[in-house]
Amino acid sequence: MKYFFALLFSLFILQTQAQNQPWQGKFEPIDNLLSPPNSYRTASGAPGKAYWQQRADYKIKATINESNNTLTGEETITYYNNSPDDLSYLWIQLEQNVNKKENEDFGSINNSLKNGINTRQMQFLTRAIDFPAGYSIKYIKNSKGKPIKSLVNNTMMKVLLDEPLLAGSAITFSIGWSYPITDRSMYLLSREGYEYFPEDDNTVYLIAHWFPRMAVYNDTEGWQNQQFQKLGEFALEFGDYEVEITVPEDHIVASTGTLQNPESVLTKKQRERLNDAKKSFDKPVMIITQAEAVENEQEKSTKQKTWKFSAKNVRDFAFASSRKFLWDAQAVKLPTNTVMAMSFYPKEGLPVWQEESTKAIMHALEVYSEATFDYPYPVCISVNTSNIGMEFPMISFNGGRPKNGQISKSAKAGMIGTIIHEVGHNWFPMIVSSDERKWMWMDEGLNTFLHQRTVAERYPDFNSVTPKSIAPFMSGDKNILRPIMTTSDNELFNQFGANFYMKPTVGLQMLRHSIIGKELFDAAFKEYANRWKYKHPNPSDLFRTLEDATATDLDWFYRGWFFTTDHVDMELTNVKWFKVHEEDRNIENQTKSTTVVAEGNNITDTPKDFSSGPEVINMTTTPDSSYGQFLSRIDDNAIRKELSGKNLYEVTIKNVGGLVMPVTIEWIFTDGTSEIDTLPAQIWRRMNTKLKRFL
Ligand SMILES: [Zn+2]
Repeated sequence: MKYFFALLFSLFILQTQAQNQPWQGKFEPIDNLLSPPNSYRTASGAPGKAYWQQRADYKIKATINESNNTLTGEETITYYNNSPDDLSYLWIQLEQNVNKKENEDFGSINNSLKNGINTRQMQFLTRAIDFPAGYSIKYIKNSKGKPIKSLVNNTMMKVLLDEPLLAGSAITFSIGWSYPITDRSMYLLSREGYEYFPEDDNTVYLIAHWFPRMAVYNDTEGWQNQQFQKLGEFALEFGDYEVEITVPEDHIVASTGTLQNPESVLTKKQRERLNDAKKSFDKPVMIITQAEAVENEQEKSTKQKTWKFSAKNVRDFAFASSRKFLWDAQAVKLPTNTVMAMSFYPKEGLPVWQEESTKAIMHALEVYSEATFDYPYPVCISVNTSNIGMEFPMISFNGGRPKNGQISKSAKAGMIGTIIHEVGHNWFPMIVSSDERKWMWMDEGLNTFLHQRTVAERYPDFNSVTPKSIAPFMSGDKNILRPIMTTSDNELFNQFGANFYMKPTVGLQMLRHSIIGKELFDAAFKEYANRWKYKHPNPSDLFRTLEDATATDLDWFYRGWFFTTDHVDMELTNVKWFKVHEEDRNIENQTKSTTVVAEGNNITDTPKDFSSGPEVINMTTTPDSSYGQFLSRIDDNAIRKELSGKNLYEVTIKNVGGLVMPVTIEWIFTDGTSEIDTLPAQIWRRMNTKLKRFL
């Protein structure tokens, strides 16, 4: 009986209602919450005409010593001061120092001693065993070989220049250093280090934040000044890299950049297979097979070999090295670039890594490129690790292995999701280079949004994040929750995933599907990515671009979703049912009233069950005095005719959670059919918490 609940009007009439809370201005502009626009960053959210950015080029030579797990390196940095400021000192990141015993382990957050605590957790808390860690800086010298003074503050080093580095000029200097590569399993939240395989006495080295790197100097903060405390990741400058990596002769190196000397480090067979892979677009080609990798594991060469890589316009550089690696590769064709997608994994990753890893890279490359801009680099690599995923330009370390060759469907989905996610970080923050140490959500949130879209589009059998997923978190204890606009290291360890990954993802999904609409939103998201590629965007730049490119005022959405911990909880507090009842209607007599029959007592707000039927009200003819000076008159009979026999509902909605959001009402009819009504968020403009709608 569809007619039973049929809606009367498509035009909704709003009725004000007394508020029980002071006015909260939820639709007022958020200008006071954003950094003001200027000539570097415009009010439209685009980089301004005066936008500038520093640059750092690196030439690095590094050696892994497998006998004592140390990395020794020398680097020459050319730093370009493109800012309008003269700089009397420079700051360099020394992230390895976070592992020094004398430094706080900011990674441990569940810092309570309890009965039954295991030894590894106790080590995380107390660092009872003093594993060697942190940099030994051997020298810093200028291009003429003269030593430069420096001061180390925890994970950062200040380079004191004899003369200021003038605006528009460059400086070249060199640093010699070494550090013990740490065992990944001995540190909480360890993103790099080595993994030891006792069965065959081999090691997989995952080498990242390994060389002293220039801190960011920019127009919003000057020198980036937040220390590495493990949760907040990195803020880095773009530049070109020439890197020479010396490893045991039987190791295989997977790295950021393009291999410059394949003739010296790869066999003829491996080079031929790589050439075949460049032409293989439908499936990967094995460059190193399982049998070859297992044979390689036995070698234990004490000789060395140097791999040379070159990378252009990247903000970081990482690599992995081991004699355990299987290696597969295939080409992925994008509209403006053909990329080599490659996976490196020990046999412990089989069979799932051989079946899924490179395929997952391909899916990520295709979906992200379509949503933003084509992946610009020549290679995209996934390296298998024991746990967690971690991203770097062109290469990511991705956790997940089967047990005895078996893997559950959910574990496999998790592993594929991790690969997609870490490959996706090539866009955010490796190219659209926001400050991870400050705003984790800017890269994790935007990346998770596209990662979930990739899963939904390419792996429809897997679960993906939907707005429903975030409801339990957002409706949790407000004494613990923080707004998304909380800096990375101020978030609790057990909720950064929900707050910085999931909640921004759902926010973007709602903008795309419910608030802005897919076509406009997708173009605006693409606009943001293209405006800020190879640049350093701030939250304001994202917020402003999404409004500017869609002609949509989203300040109310940003205010609630990003700056508060309010949640969505709307209560349907009352529904009243009215029906026009035609009785003795005399169309000749326009003064006669029409009876409208309605449910129960219309004075109280108490919900009714409709058992007593619709409520009776009178609809009178409009008196002449109501028209004032207007000469037109409504056709009273036409109104009566339109309403005749139809249902009218007055719906009262209470906003319990506090977030202003669109209201979706699903009408379920007695014949089993249903209809969706979407009321825009703007219905809350004049009322904070409670409103009535006539439908
Ligand atoms: Zn991530």
